[in-house]
Amino acid sequence: LPDLQDKVALVTGAGSGIGRAAARMLAQQGMKVCLVDLKNERTEMTYQEIMDAGGQSIIADTDVSDAQRVAQAFEQAVKAWGRLDVVFANAGINGVLAPIEDMKEEDWDQTLAVNMKGTFLCVKNAIPHMKERGGSIIVTSSINGSRKFSNFGMSAYSTSKAGQVAFTKMAALELAQYKIRVNAICPGAIQTNIGENTLHTPELDKIKIPVKYPQGSQPLEHAPGQPEQVADLVAFLASEASSHITGTQVFIDGAESLL
Ligand code: NAD
Repeated sequence: LPDLQDKVALVTGAGSGIGRAAARMLAQQGMKVCLVDLKNERTEMTYQEIMDAGGQSIIADTDVSDAQRVAQAFEQAVKAWGRLDVVFANAGINGVLAPIEDMKEEDWDQTLAVNMKGTFLCVKNAIPHMKERGGSIIVTSSINGSRKFSNFGMSAYSTSKAGQVAFTKMAALELAQYKIRVNAICPGAIQTNIGENTLHTPELDKIKIPVKYPQGSQPLEHAPGQPEQVADLVAFLASEASSHITGTQVFIDGAESLL
């Protein structure tokens, strides 16, 4: 994807999983990559991997739900390299999984703040830097919220993921005038660290709805998929190879969501 060479990307959630694989992939394509994540050692590892491979990268420790910090991260990227071409708004959490009647308000708010508000803040801050030259914004949604609703306890998560798709479509229409493309990707189960900070309330065990297939089954036999497979899709959507694609959602789930 030669058009990505020497361009600038900002990737959120770049310390782990899909974000790390995408950051490495974009760096391999010759992009300068600003790594946005909560302050943690894994982001340093992503940084080191990119630098060791001869790439260019910086870290912006940022909570994507913090408006001021998100604005600063974008400034940091543009200050370092003078432009911004691609944003991968990918940071996200499962949050606390609980039946709706037991879901605490603060847990609901936290999931929506990171996943949905975080996406809004990234897109909002991208616009002033992309307006003149255009660009590509990719949002990580999920099959949850669009096609799959059988992960019990995920009402806040699925709502946030559905909200991201609606927001992506609004943004695509609004920003087409600036040649800024905005697309959502909807992964099925991908092998990452997202389960680490996922909390289940005891009440969750009480929900028993029969499912025909075990959670995470994927007919294509990649169950779960690998972050690198998602990174290939991100690179395609980042590049001019997808120049006529905007406002869409691409499922990458080995047909998991069709079961
Ligand atoms: P992961 O936990 O491996 O990586 C997520 C990264 O986001 C972590 O490095 C974490 O520190 C960071 N992060 C969390 N909260 C943050 C915040 N407030 N500010 C900045 N960074 C923050 O998980 P992953 O699976 O790679 O998740 C990436 C995206 O993919 C998420 O939006 C997730 O909802 C989505 N997704 C994942 C799967 C899956 O099965 N893994 C499936 C569908 C969608």
